[in-house]
Amino acid sequence: MARMTSSARPLLNRRLAEFGTTIFAEMSALAAGTGSINLGQGFPDTDGPEEIREAAVRALRDGRGNQYPPGPGIPELRAAVAAHQERRYGLSYDPDTEVLVTAGATEAIAAALLALLEPGDEVIALEPYYDSYAASIALAGGTRVPVTLRPEDAAPAPDGTPHRRFRLDLDELRDAVTDRTRLLLLNTPHNPTGTVLTRAELTEIARLAVERDLLVVTDEVYEHLVFDDAEHIPLATLPGMRERTVTIGSAGKTFSFTGWKVGWVTAPPALVGAVRSAKQFLTYVASGPFQYAVAEALALPDSYFEEFRADMLRKRDVLAAGLTDAGFSVFRPQGTYFITTDIRPLGESDGFAFCRALPERAGVVAIPNAVFYDHRDAGAPFVRFAFCKRTDVLEEAARRLKAAW
Ligand code: PMP
Ligand code: GLN
Repeated sequence: MARMTSSARPLLNRRLAEFGTTIFAEMSALAAGTGSINLGQGFPDTDGPEEIREAAVRALRDGRGNQYPPGPGIPELRAAVAAHQERRYGLSYDPDTEVLVTAGATEAIAAALLALLEPGDEVIALEPYYDSYAASIALAGGTRVPVTLRPEDAAPAPDGTPHRRFRLDLDELRDAVTDRTRLLLLNTPHNPTGTVLTRAELTEIARLAVERDLLVVTDEVYEHLVFDDAEHIPLATLPGMRERTVTIGSAGKTFSFTGWKVGWVTAPPALVGAVRSAKQFLTYVASGPFQYAVAEALALPDSYFEEFRADMLRKRDVLAAGLTDAGFSVFRPQGTYFITTDIRPLGESDGFAFCRALPERAGVVAIPNAVFYDHRDAGAPFVRFAFCKRTDVLEEAARRLKAAW
């Protein structure tokens, strides 16, 4: 205690000092405090399939997973993850050596970066990037190198509504690689922009990774949420990529149980082994009974995944129409359950100030995209709304937003 008070040294270490409290906690607290509709933090307001919830109850009652499960995850879940990758993408992974269960995708990301980076290694991430990327890179002593996705006009909606999208500039990506680059940290479908990388883009990324001998960590937690003519293509399916790619998935998004925190990594044995080395000292294991339930969830018939996607697509269209009607410029997402908007048509330009005032002004909570940028100015006018909510909630939010301007 004496040491703490007599020293001028701050308590929080330098690696974490810049991060503060996550925007999701801040904005969800604001939503609760003001009784606002929370379209900020991305969690569904309806739980996933009843049969899967029951599977968790059964596991708990039967005493499966109530004590430490095996470090790499229960064999049933590892087998289910491998079967899912094979069934959906034709990717073959050995459940014993090439699959690792984690405490959500968040731990998978942290463990991968802690395992694979030496201090000073550069990591290229697509900006705007999910907030835990920056913190995990920092914890690992790495240096983040953002490559900014740029807004551009996109094909209009079937009803003629103009739309925009965020695009990766492949030349910028190529230019960002240096002799110190160790790893590309990708995310497709991309939070918060809703961009889904195309086969042509992924092919170029793969070529670059092979040419410069880079590792790739690819966060594909929204793999089942792709819309219109977009297709989710796992990077590991492209030539030369399986051996250098750590792919991350999560039950939270696909099965609407974000509180269960069951995620997974698929990669060749050496990469899985490395990630496991870090993971074992983070949580060691997590979510015992839920692992059994998620094993069942991954084996659900294709109709589950199709209906889930169709339901989210309807919600996307409800919110996109509502936001457009309220005066926002909308980036129609091809994936994820987020819509990024541009607030400048409303006469606003500072997303932070806008989001802080929004609960009082409209009774709605959203996320300022600037928090996902190193180049804060580039993200200033963009604001993200989540649409993984009941349709009546989305409609009410849209009504409130329209009335506020
Ligand atoms: N990656 C992305 C892109 C996310 O949006 C999220 C949060 N939902 C996560 C990872 C974290 O996933 P989990 O809840 O499984 O830790
Ligand atoms: N991934 C969710 C989002 O982007 C939030 C998860 C969290 O709060 N850490 O909104």
